[in-house]
Amino acid sequence: MDATTPTTPGGDERAVMVDIRGVNKHFGDLHVLKDVDLQVGRGEVVVVLGPSGSGKSTLCRTVNRLETFESGSITIDGQALPEEGKALAQLRADVGMVFQSFNLFAHKTILENVTLGPTKVRGRGKADAERRATELLERVGVGEQAGKYPAQLSGGQQQRVAIARSLAMEPKVMLFDEPTSALDPEMVGEVLDVMDELARGGMTMIVVTHEMGFARRAANRVVFMADGQIVETAEPEAFFSAPRSERAKDFLGKIL
Ligand code: ADP
Ligand code: MG
Repeated sequence: MDATTPTTPGGDERAVMVDIRGVNKHFGDLHVLKDVDLQVGRGEVVVVLGPSGSGKSTLCRTVNRLETFESGSITIDGQALPEEGKALAQLRADVGMVFQSFNLFAHKTILENVTLGPTKVRGRGKADAERRATELLERVGVGEQAGKYPAQLSGGQQQRVAIARSLAMEPKVMLFDEPTSALDPEMVGEVLDVMDELARGGMTMIVVTHEMGFARRAANRVVFMADGQIVETAEPEAFFSAPRSERAKDFLGKIL
């Protein structure tokens, strides 16, 4: 199979969940995304690797319209991201995002953190949202923390809450931007476990991470970025055992 296409069987248009075509973005004079093309299939897990400053975070933020871009197109499940307004909030809810810093609301309880989006954006009733939030918190292993505030939880617990909060919006795709990079080493595994389970459950995921173990076991494809470009796309085993580009060889030589 051609590694540049999604691995989802079928191959028809509807099998593509995230469709990024010819995207260019500048920050002033800096050309941070250069003709980026990436199609992510429904249920596919794509791990994005690359040196610091290569544009990985910008790519994630662009998919979620946290950043604008000058040319190209991005569609989620066949729908273009609107520029602004209520439609953007709705569509953004389809794209869950988990950052390195957990970004929980400090003055809201764990339960409130998870019910806020569904009640405000998805229009769910409070009791319904709370029932679902409780289930999700249990699923990520923090059910007993529901009444606490973020600062009372460990980093690993907070990141699992952040994942539950995204899932509560019933996203079509989840973006993870170095979700374990800010964690103490002993907490990395508990967050990756939740991500592994999501991947096995069929969630469409774009994951920026330096956790090569996760990439090997969970990714359908690895995308390697350098200088704002996608330099190489491959199945994980092929990428790690025989990277094709000099940039990728150099990168793997430094981290493995
Ligand atoms: P990565 O996540 O791969 O480390 P980023 O997407 O964060 O890379 O950054 C890509 C490039 O864009 C870097 O050179 C970075 O300094 C620059 N950059 C990122 N965000 C901004 C911004 N808001 N303003 C100006 N330059 C930025
Ligand atoms: Mg980054």
